[in-house]
Amino acid sequence: MSKYLLKNLDYLGALLKGKAISLFLDYDGTLTPIVGRPEGARLTYQTKELLRALVRLYPTVIISGRALDDLIERVSIKGLVYAGNHGMEIFSEGFTMVFDTGSGAREELKRLNSILRGLPRSFRGVIIEDKGVTLCVHYRLLDSREVKPFAREFMEITGPSLERGLVRVTEGKKVFEVRPPVFWHKGKAVEWMLKRRGFRATWPIYAGDDETDRDAFRVVKGTGSSVFVGSAERGADFYLKAQDEVKNLLNWLKEFGRERAR
Ligand SMILES: [Mg+2]
Repeated sequence: MSKYLLKNLDYLGALLKGKAISLFLDYDGTLTPIVGRPEGARLTYQTKELLRALVRLYPTVIISGRALDDLIERVSIKGLVYAGNHGMEIFSEGFTMVFDTGSGAREELKRLNSILRGLPRSFRGVIIEDKGVTLCVHYRLLDSREVKPFAREFMEITGPSLERGLVRVTEGKKVFEVRPPVFWHKGKAVEWMLKRRGFRATWPIYAGDDETDRDAFRVVKGTGSSVFVGSAERGADFYLKAQDEVKNLLNWLKEFGRERAR
């Protein structure tokens, strides 16, 4: 059973006692509210200030399905670790990593990209986002009556490649993501980072709001704390009721870290 975090901060404090902590924070829907167009998701001044304070206290990762460059451009705070494309591209001052998806997968994504680009012509509001390693098809702005026919057409286009194991398709909040068929996800990326300098032997606190964050929740189970943003969630240790409660967690972590440093 996941606990409502804001009523259990003392419990979390007791749990973290004597432990070195690292932070893993998802971007969209966790650090920023979900917005209609993905390019609109910006950090508030307050959240930026909190992140600046936190990076001085804990090794901190911003992890996202966004392309790495996009993520860095949006957050642009020094000292953070940036994990883009669900952790397939990682950049920090200490270490970097690019997951090699293979040329076959790259070719297939390119081919699908050129076909999927035609979708917004028949389905107004659909946005195709080429993230290099992966491809996103957003339909948040699509008329709700159009969702079914759109999904059918999307499946028709991607189905054959899916069946042949050339790509994987995952679903997020009003977005389909076409990904290379590799066994790598946010959880694997967290595992990898926890072996890096500064992160070794830390107790990770992972906060996320999406389907793709569940892989990371599983990885930190028992050796860290997970926070699902949005509702009570089986599989996460804690939950927050809404995105705007995330700042309470960040603030608490800031005070907790400062108190400790004294
Ligand atoms: Mg998210």
